[in-house]
Amino acid sequence: MPQPSPKPPLTIRLCQPRGFCAGVNRAIQIVVLALKKYGAPVYVRHEIVHNRYVVEGLQKLGAVFIEELHEIPDDHHHCPVVFSAHGVPKSVPADAVARNLFYLDATCPLVSKVHKQAMRHQRLGRHVLLIGHAGHPEVIGTMGQLPEGAVTLIETEADAKTFVPDDPATLGFVTQTTLSVEDTAGIIRVLQERFPEMQAAAAESICYATTNRQEAVKETAVGADLFLVVGAPNSSNSRRLVEVAERAGAARSLLVQRAAEIPWDEIGGISVLGLSAGASAPEIIVDEIIDAFRERFDVSVDLAVTATETEEFPVMRALRDVELTAADMAFVNGTR
Ligand code: SF4
Repeated sequence: MPQPSPKPPLTIRLCQPRGFCAGVNRAIQIVVLALKKYGAPVYVRHEIVHNRYVVEGLQKLGAVFIEELHEIPDDHHHCPVVFSAHGVPKSVPADAVARNLFYLDATCPLVSKVHKQAMRHQRLGRHVLLIGHAGHPEVIGTMGQLPEGAVTLIETEADAKTFVPDDPATLGFVTQTTLSVEDTAGIIRVLQERFPEMQAAAAESICYATTNRQEAVKETAVGADLFLVVGAPNSSNSRRLVEVAERAGAARSLLVQRAAEIPWDEIGGISVLGLSAGASAPEIIVDEIIDAFRERFDVSVDLAVTATETEEFPVMRALRDVELTAADMAFVNGTR
C-alpha cells in the first residue's frame, strides 16, 4: 500500500497580543447584555465593530444594524439603540434625545479621550489638526465633537506640508486611535518642523492596542514567508498590521476575513507563517485559520509574546446587573 506523503512542516508564529482589544470587547458585551436585559430587537447604529462575523453573530442573537436613527420604526422607540465603538458626532446623541430614543453609547473610552483632547484644544483657543483617514467613522465622530471649521483633517505627510493655518501659533493636534505608529510620527514631525508652537494632546492618541499589535507584528514578521492578518478590509487597525508586516520583512502579507479566503494554490512552499488579528477580529477565526493550516501542513505553533495586556473597560451601569457568561461570548471567543 502506498503511504500518504507526509505533510510539509510549518511553523506558525502567533502574535500575542492579537485580536480583540478592551474597547471592542466592551462594545460587543454591551450589545449582548442589552439583548439579555431588554430582549430583541436591540438596534445598533453602524457596525458595532468592523467585522462581518461579529455583526452576523449579533444579528442571529437579535441585533438590528442601522446606519441612521430615523431607520428605527416609530413603534420601536422604546427599544435600545447602541452607538458603535468608533464614537459618534455630538449630533447623534442629540438626535436620539430629540426622537425620545433610549441609547447606550459603546464608544471606546480611549476614543472618548481623544474627543476630550480635541475639545480641550478648542477651549484653549487652538485650531485642531486631526491626523486620520477621511470617512472613517472614528474621524467623523471626532470632527463632530467641534463646530464646523474648528478641525482640519491631515491624512498624509503631503497634507502636513501644504496645510496653511490662519494662525500658526494656535494649533493643537490629536490623532485617530488606530493609525500606523510610524506614519503618524512622520506626519507629526513635518507639522512640528513647520509649526514649532503646535501643541500635542496631553496624552498619546494612538491607543495601547494599536501600538501593541503593531509592535508584535514588527517582531514576528522578520523572515516570515507569509504573514496573515485576520481582519476586515474596512478595519483601519487591521490594514495597518498588513503594512507593518510587509515593512518589517515578511515576504508577503495578506488580510483575510476567513480561512476560505486564503489563496492555498499560491502559498505551497512556505515554512514560516506569521499570524495576527486586528483589534476587531474574533479569536474563533484565528482558530479556524490554524485548523485550516493543520489540514495541509505539519504545524507547530510558536507563541510570540511581546506584551501583556490587562486593560478591561467595564460596561455602563445600566447593564451591570446582567450576568455575562463565557457561553454568551462563545460565538466570538470559541469554547477552547
Ligand atoms: S482599537 Fe483602541 S481605541 Fe479602538 S476600540 Fe480598541 S482600545 Fe479602543
